[in-house]
Amino acid sequence: MLPRETMSAFNKLVEEKFPGAILNKELESKVATILEKRGITPANTLLCTSLCCDELARSLEDDLKKIYGHNFNLGGLSGFPFAGTTGFSAMAAHVPDGGYCLLVHGPHVGITKDGIIGKVERSGIALVDNCCGSAIAASNYLQAITDGTANINPKIQSFSDFQQGAVQELILPFGKRLNDAENRMKELPYALYDSQDILIRDIISSGSKGIKSGLALLGGIQINTSPDTSDYFHPLRFDFYDGNGVVVEDMLPSLMENHRKKRREMY
Ligand SMILES: [Zn+2]
Repeated sequence: MLPRETMSAFNKLVEEKFPGAILNKELESKVATILEKRGITPANTLLCTSLCCDELARSLEDDLKKIYGHNFNLGGLSGFPFAGTTGFSAMAAHVPDGGYCLLVHGPHVGITKDGIIGKVERSGIALVDNCCGSAIAASNYLQAITDGTANINPKIQSFSDFQQGAVQELILPFGKRLNDAENRMKELPYALYDSQDILIRDIISSGSKGIKSGLALLGGIQINTSPDTSDYFHPLRFDFYDGNGVVVEDMLPSLMENHRKKRREMY
């Protein structure tokens, strides 16, 4: 573990770069408490995730698994819900009778100890490399199209790399937004989140008949940090859907309540 002062300076840096980001352990305990109050408990809930294939995306998932048990995985590269409506229907059928689903989704982004967004230190690897690699590859593809040095060809029909082909197709509408961004690497996960949000809404709406008592949806950006600092999550949506697939409550304000105060208590 790093010295307390270094840790606190790093926390400050992350909060400056990503206002609204909260430490994973704070997120996990608050989510569990908020849901428990609504009768959504580890015993009656199936965890479902749509997070990137990258092992760095597993920390949040593993912590949530400690509370809710094994997750149903909808996700693939960049965190897109590639298991789609078929995956969602299967997942919904696996929810305990009379129970709930907690669906957590989002892209991820790295931040180095000195604050470079889009890169992260990895355990046992000297090279400080891209994070999320899939998202950045898609962003570079889009940049080349915007610059006129490449043509649109996401190669989605190629089965050997079809998830990346789909990410490259899905990122196309964000050419101007990413080009105009002050920091392209910071804007990238938010653009991908917006794209995922559309897909997730679509998938939930198509599978709404299969929802049992209800579904809690937590969407946001995973922020991965070096092996000796804690990861963060920037929650962007925390909604409760009833058994008919209708959003009946916005739980985001409860999740964001007092988060700065809570962080100070932790460090
Ligand atoms: Zn990734």
